[in-house]
Amino acid sequence: MGWVTDSAPTRAELSACVQCGLCLPECPTFRLTGKETFSPRGRLMAMSAVADGVVQVDAAFEAIMDSCLQCRACEVVCPSLVPFGRAMEGARTELTAQLPSSQRKARHLVVGKVLASPALLRMATLGVKAGQKMRIGKLLPATLRSGFQGIRPIMPVAVEAGSTYPALGERIGRAGFLTGCVMDVWFSEVHAASIALLQRAGYDVVIPPAQTCCGALAAHDGDMKDARKLAQKNVVAFANVDVVVVDSAGCGAHMKEYENFTQDGEAFSKRVFDINELIAIAIGSGRIPTSATERGDVAVQDPCHLRHAQRIVDQPRSMLRAAGYNPVEIDPDGRCCGAAGIYSLLQPVLSQQLGAAKADQVRVSKAKVVASANPGCEMQLRSYLGSGYEVVHPVELLWRAVQEDDR
Ligand code: SF4
Ligand code: SF4
Repeated sequence: MGWVTDSAPTRAELSACVQCGLCLPECPTFRLTGKETFSPRGRLMAMSAVADGVVQVDAAFEAIMDSCLQCRACEVVCPSLVPFGRAMEGARTELTAQLPSSQRKARHLVVGKVLASPALLRMATLGVKAGQKMRIGKLLPATLRSGFQGIRPIMPVAVEAGSTYPALGERIGRAGFLTGCVMDVWFSEVHAASIALLQRAGYDVVIPPAQTCCGALAAHDGDMKDARKLAQKNVVAFANVDVVVVDSAGCGAHMKEYENFTQDGEAFSKRVFDINELIAIAIGSGRIPTSATERGDVAVQDPCHLRHAQRIVDQPRSMLRAAGYNPVEIDPDGRCCGAAGIYSLLQPVLSQQLGAAKADQVRVSKAKVVASANPGCEMQLRSYLGSGYEVVHPVELLWRAVQEDDR
């Protein structure tokens, strides 16, 4: 039958692959399994076989696609610039259209509807809070336990929709801040630190009330309808700001590619910045001072959607140095930690192997504090490291240092 949607991998995307195999050693699932079908090249060949009508979109094709972490480590080394992440989203959209299993429909309900609805998310959060109080994490099956145990104790939401937080000192622009879905209720301390630093950097920070979930999880899961709807809503909500600032690497990477989801997306994406980028600029210009206090080692974990998708590597390290910390490298290749959105629930065996390996890299470094700029990675790290480690966003460490130095 071939492809049936307008989001399918295109001929140009698929034929760009010259099958050189340079991506294979970079692919976490190929490294773990040694199987060609678990490699970028193998997955692209499977997509081409469907495009040519040689094979169908069936359970075997689904297994090959769903085992991909969408970490995009393959894109970084590809000499032919194959847009693997885009092609994989297209393949997942085809799975949704041609193989609408009940599990896939249930996933779409969660990522497309619950995350986009503040009311439903609040209800889910109350459930998580109650579960944390009753310490039910230990009773959950291993597939759910890792995610649940990695969630921070839930704090009151720190950011009011519709608020403006004024610039301190000379004003350089108006920043629209993405509060996101789970970030807003589960990681409110990260938002508070990001907004405070943006004010110091010279931005009026506004929280557009009409904004919604960025749509990354919907897109990654092949729910193109919801991903397009959410993208369009955000394009309208952030129309009146100079820059759009995001403090979750996965959300920022997705919003920088809104041109794949809405016709107004290209201009919008040019205004999107990860918080690490803007704060590193503010440090470079002296708007945020460098601390003279030495605060010790911090292991740096590079989220795939920061390092591979947005190519942001130096900025979190600059922030840590400015805060007086010594950034410790744990993995020069930036291999995926296995969190990957809802991958830890869907592919628990591979996710556990990657999570355990990442935790071992931290232990070897001897650092007791870990900086990670993505909520999913943070939860995965906390879960696999266990007690005795602090896992935080780099902005939290910098804001903590700025406050201490102010005293
Ligand atoms: S590196 Fe690029 S061109 Fe080479 S096999 Fe991988 S995807 Fe294809
Ligand atoms: S996105 Fe990651 S897991 Fe998927 S093929 Fe590329 S390197 Fe492998």
